[in-house]
Amino acid sequence: MSSFAALKDKRRARQGPSFASTSSASPAAVPAEPVVPAPFEPIEPVSILGASTVEDTKLYVYGAGMYKDLPEYLEIRVSQTRGRGIYVKEGTSVKAGTSLMKVKPHAYSLSTPNLDAHCASCLLNPQSSLSPEYQVTQLRRCTGCLAVSYCSSECQKYDWKGHKEECRALKALRSHGDQDPGMPGEAVRALGRLVWTRKRVGGDTAWWTEVEHMQSNITLLNPRQHEPLAMLGLAVCRYLGITPQQSSPEETARKLDELGFPSIRNLTNFLSRFQTNSFSLTTPDLTNVGVAVSPLAALISHSCMPNAAVVFPTGLGRRGALEVIALRDLQSGEEILTSYLDVALPRAERQKELKERYLFDCECTLCTRELDPDWIDPRSAVRCRTEGCTAKLRMPQPGTTHILCNTCGTGFAIDAVSLQQHIQLGTAALQKADSLQFSDPAKARYLLVSVLRNLTPLARSSYPLLSILQLLQQLFITAFSVLPFEDPERDRFLQDAATCAALVFAGMDDVYPPGHPTKGVQSVTMAKLLMAEISDSALAPSPATSSLPADMLVLLPMGVCRLRMALELLSKASRDLRLGFGKDGGLVGKDASLLAVGLEREISMWSALRTNRRIR
Ligand SMILES: [Zn+2]
Ligand SMILES: [Zn+2]
Ligand SMILES: [Zn+2]
Ligand SMILES: [Zn+2]
Repeated sequence: MSSFAALKDKRRARQGPSFASTSSASPAAVPAEPVVPAPFEPIEPVSILGASTVEDTKLYVYGAGMYKDLPEYLEIRVSQTRGRGIYVKEGTSVKAGTSLMKVKPHAYSLSTPNLDAHCASCLLNPQSSLSPEYQVTQLRRCTGCLAVSYCSSECQKYDWKGHKEECRALKALRSHGDQDPGMPGEAVRALGRLVWTRKRVGGDTAWWTEVEHMQSNITLLNPRQHEPLAMLGLAVCRYLGITPQQSSPEETARKLDELGFPSIRNLTNFLSRFQTNSFSLTTPDLTNVGVAVSPLAALISHSCMPNAAVVFPTGLGRRGALEVIALRDLQSGEEILTSYLDVALPRAERQKELKERYLFDCECTLCTRELDPDWIDPRSAVRCRTEGCTAKLRMPQPGTTHILCNTCGTGFAIDAVSLQQHIQLGTAALQKADSLQFSDPAKARYLLVSVLRNLTPLARSSYPLLSILQLLQQLFITAFSVLPFEDPERDRFLQDAATCAALVFAGMDDVYPPGHPTKGVQSVTMAKLLMAEISDSALAPSPATSSLPADMLVLLPMGVCRLRMALELLSKASRDLRLGFGKDGGLVGKDASLLAVGLEREISMWSALRTNRRIR
C-alpha cells in the first residue's frame, strides 16, 4: 500500500494546473485496499446503504492525535458497504440527552444575509438569550473589513487568529471599487479560513490530516456536477488572491502550492470534501445561519430517522461548541446516526437531495418503511374532514375522486389531480418565499398566504404545508415585532403568528423523532407568542381579522388562560430541551426556565387580583 505522501506525489505528477481537467470525470488514484486503511491513508468514497451492525464492520485505524474529541466510549468503525461511522463501544450504553461529543469546528462562516445579524464568533445576537451571562446588547462591525460583526471585544479577540487573513482578503475585495465582486458566499469564506489555518498550523498536523481524511465523492460525480465545483474553485482562488485566468499556469501552480495544494486536482478534491462533509451552522434556537466543517462529526452516517442531532446549544467560539446529542438511549454496538437534511421532507424529496449532494440512495428505516403499502406517511397525507377525527389518510392517487376514512367511516370527495398541482405550486411558492424572506418579507408572506388556501386538505404534518407554516410563523413574527403597540395591524400579525405556531406544533409531532430539539424550540416560540403583549380589544382570529384560511384558524385563549397555556408549553419545553440540547437544555432551555419563573409570578398576581375583586 502506498503512503499518503507518495500518493500526493503521484497526483502532482499526473495533473496539470488547469480547471479544464476537472470537468472530465477522470478517476483519482485509489488506494489498493480502501476498507481498513493504514494511518494517514485517505478514504475513497463508498455507497451508504441500510444501517449496519458491528458484526459487518472493522475498527478504523487512524493516526495519533486525530479525532481527539471522540469520547472513549465511542469508536470509529468501517463497514464494507457504508464506509466509516461512529459506534457505541461494545459493552457500553448511552442515555438519551447525553452530549456524545463537543467539538470546535475546523471552520465556520455566517451566510451573507446573517453577517450583520449575528456575532461572527459566538453566533449570538441581542435576541439570543435572556440569561445575563449570555446577554448581548449590540453587535459592532470589525473596523478592518467592515464585513463581520462581533458582540464583544472578547469574541473579537477570540476570533482574531482565524479572522486576520480573512479580514485582509475581505478588505481587498472592497478596494476593487466598481469591479467589486460582492461578498463571497459562506462556502468560499469557510474554505478560505481552512486554507489560511492550514498555512498557520502546518499541513503535517493531525488537524489538517483530518481534513484530508474527509470522504471525497469526486470520482462519483457526473460531468454536470463538476461544473459547480469548478465555479466554486474559481471563486475560492479569486478570494485567496489567485487569478488562473490572468496568470500563467506556472504562476498559478506556484501560488496554489504555497497554500498547500500541489495540483488543481488536489484543490478540487478539497472542495469536494468540503461540499460532502459540511454542516448547516445553526444558532442555539436552530435558525440556519451558515456553514460549518468538523471532520469528526462528519464521520457520523445519515438516517432520515436519526438517533442523534448536531446542535450548537450555547453558540460557538468562547461560548460553546458543536455538540452531538443522543436523542434516545443508545445500545451497546449501536451506530450513531444524524440526519443530513430536514426530516419533514417526504421520501422522494429526501432521496433526491441525498443523491444530488451526497451521492447515495438512502435505505434507512424510514425510507424502507415508506415502501410498505400499509403505512401512511404523515409527510404526504390528507386529513379526515370529520370534526374531531384526527386520522390521516393516504395521499390519493391521480384519478381518485372519493376517499374513505377507516377510523370514523366517513367518506368525502377529493380532486387528487388538482391537489397534486396545488402541492407543486405550494412547493414553488415555498422556495421563492424562502429566497425573499430577508429582502422582501411582505412579498414572501403574501406568496405563502395565497397558496395556503388550496392546501387545507393536507394533514398538518404534510409537505409542503408544515414547512410553509414554519416559514410563515417566522414572517409574521418579524412583521409584528417591528410595529408599535398602538398599531392595529400588530394584534393581527401576532394572532396569525400564534395560529401558525399552534398549527406547526400540532404537525411536528408526527415527523420529528421523539426528543428532537426542533420540538422544544417550537414550544418556546409558541409560549413567547402567547406571552407577547396583546391589546384587550384584540379579536379572536376570524376570517375577517386573519389572513389565514378559515379552517386553519385555532381558538387561542385570552387573558390568564392564555398565560396558563404558555406556562404549560414552557414546562413541556424544559423537559424536551434537556433531551434535544443536552442536560442544560442550551440557551433555549435556560430561557424556558427563566420565562416560566416570571410567568408563574404573573399568573399568581392575576389570581390575587381576581380574588381581591371578589372580596370587594
Ligand atoms: Zn460573540
Ligand atoms: Zn475584519
Ligand atoms: Zn432515509
Ligand atoms: Zn375520520
